[in-house]
Amino acid sequence: MRATRSHERNTGGLGPRVVVAGRPGAGKGTQGARLARCLDVQYLSTGDLLRHEIAIESPLGSAVERLVAAGRLVPTGLIVAIVETNLVDGGYVLDGFPRTVEQAEALFNRQALAPTLAIEIVVPAHIALARLTGRGRRDDDSTVASERLVIYETDTVPALDLLDRRGLLVRVDGNDSPDAVEQGVLRALVRACPPRDGSSLSSARVVPFSRDNSARLVADREYAGE
Ligand code: ADP
Repeated sequence: MRATRSHERNTGGLGPRVVVAGRPGAGKGTQGARLARCLDVQYLSTGDLLRHEIAIESPLGSAVERLVAAGRLVPTGLIVAIVETNLVDGGYVLDGFPRTVEQAEALFNRQALAPTLAIEIVVPAHIALARLTGRGRRDDDSTVASERLVIYETDTVPALDLLDRRGLLVRVDGNDSPDAVEQGVLRALVRACPPRDGSSLSSARVVPFSRDNSARLVADREYAGE
């Protein structure tokens, strides 16, 4: 028996709500966007949103410009408001939020927005730094990039611990090609969403999805007794 889009079983009508985390340079933007396409949900990157506001010189952009350029976190109230304003119904892949315990608590306090899964893409710090300094974004010069890596340890890791304690966190090796990491992300997703009827997940594989060439999740399930 074959079941596709198994994540829908666990999330009800609201759709899957997945947080993608990882050190700056881990590749969460690439993987987050691919995963959102695969799950057919909204992809929201707080970093992209802030950079857009800065580029169009909006009042919000002006308010956060210096902080972003320095690699510092923007105030929680502001970022929570931005996330709330921009999220639409039907599930999400959130990239760059929550980044602190306070932000994670804010997300859990809004029940309809509470994540159903968090994926941390793991890369060693020296690899992340090498990727960042080769990327050329304004906040990627080595001093600012190092500052962002430190903030990840001090502020974001405790937020991930909170997600872990709630049984929501899975880790995926990010030190590989984008395609290989994507396979890891999708496998983690299958493992995290076992069928509710108690049947065993005998095998899971990911096959190319021809329409847009992204990957599509196909879980082959063998039901006990069938
Ligand atoms: P990276 O993960 O490579 O650091 P992002 O694009 O996620 O890059 O974030 C860029 C910058 O935007 C951060 O350094 C920070 O200044 C700001 N930012 C993004 N998300 C948040 C957040 N959730 N809380 C506070 N500041 C944020």
